[in-house]
Amino acid sequence: MSKKNLHATNFRKVLELFNEGRDREAESLLRIIQEDYLNMYEENKELRSQVKEVAEILDLAECMEFDGQKYWIDEDNEKTGPYCQVCYDRDGVLIRLQERSKHWECYSCQNLFVKMPTGNFIHKSRPKKELKPLLRLFS
Ligand SMILES: [Zn+2]
Repeated sequence: MSKKNLHATNFRKVLELFNEGRDREAESLLRIIQEDYLNMYEENKELRSQVKEVAEILDLAECMEFDGQKYWIDEDNEKTGPYCQVCYDRDGVLIRLQERSKHWECYSCQNLFVKMPTGNFIHKSRPKKELKPLLRLFS
């Protein structure tokens, strides 16, 4: 039985108990209902704050820019960052990178992000993987 159903049943039960002159029982049942109500109130409050948190994360995600290796936050034309891509993608936390002469450094995961002389965007030239010929089971 769900909590909601339990509540609806309890309200009716209280009325029945009062009508039958069983005031004591009705009173103790009311106390249980009150307790349930307070628990639901707390739960509701917690859920509201979780929803707010998620909304804030979504807002933030909309302002985030990825330059090919690092994240920047562009909020109302005010750019902050850069932030570590590894930490954000893995843990969802924004760690501001420390600027060095030739690279950016993440204090949290110790990753280094090499500064690109032209613009922010980098094209990683990965060595092409050689495709292995498919293993033939039957020929
Ligand atoms: Zn990091």
